[in-house]
Amino acid sequence: MSKHSNIVILTGAGISAESGVPTFRTKGGETYWEVYEDDLVPKYHRVEDVCTPEALAADPVLVHRFYDMRRAALAAVQPNAAHQALARLDRSWSGDLLIVTQNVDDLHERAGARRLQHMHGELNSALCAACEARAPWPDPMPPGQPCAMCKQPALRPDIVFFGEVPYGMERIEEALAGCDLFVSIGTSGAVYPAAGFVQLARRFGAETLELNLERSAGSGWFAQSRLGPATQLVPAWVDETLAD
Ligand code: NAD
Repeated sequence: MSKHSNIVILTGAGISAESGVPTFRTKGGETYWEVYEDDLVPKYHRVEDVCTPEALAADPVLVHRFYDMRRAALAAVQPNAAHQALARLDRSWSGDLLIVTQNVDDLHERAGARRLQHMHGELNSALCAACEARAPWPDPMPPGQPCAMCKQPALRPDIVFFGEVPYGMERIEEALAGCDLFVSIGTSGAVYPAAGFVQLARRFGAETLELNLERSAGSGWFAQSRLGPATQLVPAWVDETLAD
């Protein structure tokens, strides 16, 4: 690829798959999340049952338990070669760079990436539904946990549920408007607004590259698609980009 100066990278669940963090599963048109509970038997949760404000209001015990399980599973996995390659790019790239992740895991930052925007929130963070204060939260979170700031029993996982507005959209749109290369890694292109970033980047004249295990729903929008596992494709692309 030709020389670039400003890069926006969008990552999705696929970049963390080889670390052992499950991606979405789709069956009969419904989307599921798989989590392992104490008995190590996988349980499948429909997205609607665990990832909407309505689900949290209707069954806070189930929703909190689901995120407790995912938080515990996250503590047991490590960043992989793809996260490490992006952290290396972040350290070495003198132009503008923004890694926008849809992931709620912390594997990018554990690998050392700093120019990072979590657009769908973070598993290890708590959000107060009453005063909007945030706090680091690596532990289980029982429903009705009081907020340290306003004392209301209103802490919830700091996750952007379906129907809620993603974080950092102004920063992301500004970065997309200024980038000359947009790279999408390990995302199915099914969840908006992230799925529309490639179109926005193209409109601003950026080159576009997709790195994914298989062709995604949005593949047709990319000038180039490279297919394969992230742990192989991403380090190779970073080497190529830094050598450019
Ligand atoms: P997705 O599960 O819908 O799609 C994952 C994509 O990654 C697929 O296209 C798949 O082919 C690809 N993939 C799988 N393994 C790969 C590998 N080893 N290398 C490269 N590509 C691989 O995920 P999404 O597009 O991110 O969107 C779903 C939503 O799910 C997002 O909102 C995200 O917040 C959430 N999610 C996050 C995590 C996480 O934090 N790690 C995990 C699951 C889902």
